[in-house]
Amino acid sequence: MSKQTRYIFITGGVLSSLGKGIAAASIATLLKKAGLKVSILKADPYINVDPGTMSPLEHGEVFVTDDGAETDLDLGHYERFLDENLSQDNNFTTGRVYSSVIEKERRGDYLGKTIQVIPHIVNEIVDRIKAAGKDKDILIVEIGGTVGDIEGLPFLEAIRAMRVELDKGLAMNIHLTLVPYLKASGELKTKPTQHSVGELRRIGITPDMVICRSEMPLDKDLKDKIARSCGVDKNCVIESFDCQSIYQIPLLFMQQNILDPISSMLNLGQLKVDMSDWNTLVKRVIAPSDLVKIAFVGKYLELKESYKSLTEALIHAGAHLDTKVDIKWIDSEKIYSENVDEILKDVDGILVAGGFGKRGVEGKMEAIKFARVNKIPYLGICLGMQLSLIEFAKNVLNLKDANSAEFDENTPEPVIYLIDEFIGKDGSKQIRTHKSPLGGTMRLGGYECDVKKGSILSKLYNGVKTIKERHRHRYEANPKYRAEFEKNGLMVSGESSGLIEAVELKDHPFFIGVQFHPEFTSRLTKPNPVILGFIDAANSR
Ligand code: GLN
Repeated sequence: MSKQTRYIFITGGVLSSLGKGIAAASIATLLKKAGLKVSILKADPYINVDPGTMSPLEHGEVFVTDDGAETDLDLGHYERFLDENLSQDNNFTTGRVYSSVIEKERRGDYLGKTIQVIPHIVNEIVDRIKAAGKDKDILIVEIGGTVGDIEGLPFLEAIRAMRVELDKGLAMNIHLTLVPYLKASGELKTKPTQHSVGELRRIGITPDMVICRSEMPLDKDLKDKIARSCGVDKNCVIESFDCQSIYQIPLLFMQQNILDPISSMLNLGQLKVDMSDWNTLVKRVIAPSDLVKIAFVGKYLELKESYKSLTEALIHAGAHLDTKVDIKWIDSEKIYSENVDEILKDVDGILVAGGFGKRGVEGKMEAIKFARVNKIPYLGICLGMQLSLIEFAKNVLNLKDANSAEFDENTPEPVIYLIDEFIGKDGSKQIRTHKSPLGGTMRLGGYECDVKKGSILSKLYNGVKTIKERHRHRYEANPKYRAEFEKNGLMVSGESSGLIEAVELKDHPFFIGVQFHPEFTSRLTKPNPVILGFIDAANSR
């Protein structure tokens, strides 16, 4: 095999939300298991420079990479399947492309030329794709949106041009489409697929493989018909019907020998893949022996995708413990002191997720108090940790005005406060570098955290002294209150350069708050230790 990077371009047809990201991640997983160096890139045609400023209700979760990029939630799927840390080079948008072209234009880099979509914008896209493919055997490029969208055209032109430029055997196109089932006639219909492939052809792209999303398996005749009408080989019509778990998709693709045509098109030679470990975990996801009920207290419940990494991390932990994590979704705006007992009486664990803004925090604190007093396993993530400190300050330390500066800038008891500077381990002044476009500074990406010996946190991470987890927040726990917290049984079990990163209650089976987001590093094959520990504690109740 030559050293040149191979490219697999994935486009989507008919509808959005068909699971292009999962298909891309599944193919990448199989190729990685075959021993190849694989990476993935998601190119998003929307105008936002990144999804960082979008509401979670608009776009689903903002996934944070180790290097601090706020990216599309599909990057989360890629990491969870591939078990690789990706970076800001693995996701870009139209907004990002235009802003760098405009920046270059202002600097005079184009020597007075007229700047146009073709070639300048398209070349910028091509350069970014090539940069992400550097030193890789294979780069999978997922083009966001659906073929036919106006804003997707420069991206499609970029992959068309790359395919022409690259030697044969260095690139292929996969098109993911929908094969809908018509209840009235009891049939699966191929026409939308034919139209969508026709639309692709019109702009000069011919797919080499078609992946068909459907509610049910396709029969041979139907697949042959799709092969004929779309002009692909018969073994290049791959079905992807609804499964119980997204983690079944790589196995479903493998059963259809998807790597055979990929290997012959890209000259990859004989590929051998062992998915037995993956298979064992998937079996436990689908048919677990045990069941644990977790209250998931949040406020973006209209779009559960806002908590994608966390719900997936719960599935990973469940798979390793052979337990189904049954989530009881609880809208934090609907919890009051009068109904909290009724709402939470039948759960094995309580999880308060991260969030921004004041809405719903009272209810979250009711849930936290319930977990603390009744000794129910509790995990508070980011805002969930901050609120557990405020709840403790109010109800145990008797600081009735305890609050976060996020909710009241002038609070007399800023248990959670805003800082731009802090004192580092060596005593020097450290300044936050990630400026948020909304003002203030965000702490983003992976930071090291020293773990206190003898703590539950330390046990969960197998005694490792320094761990690294990812952050996405503006506010911090105020060290001014630390001594009082510790005197009263709430200890700091993780810290980083004097910042409080994790807390836990002493006389409680499992009450942990973490300032970081443990869900961002959880993978099917490697669950996050804090989340695993939480589900284990809930399961042992
Ligand atoms: N709103 C809080 C902050 O900015 C918590 C953020 C979060 O939960 N991700 O610090």
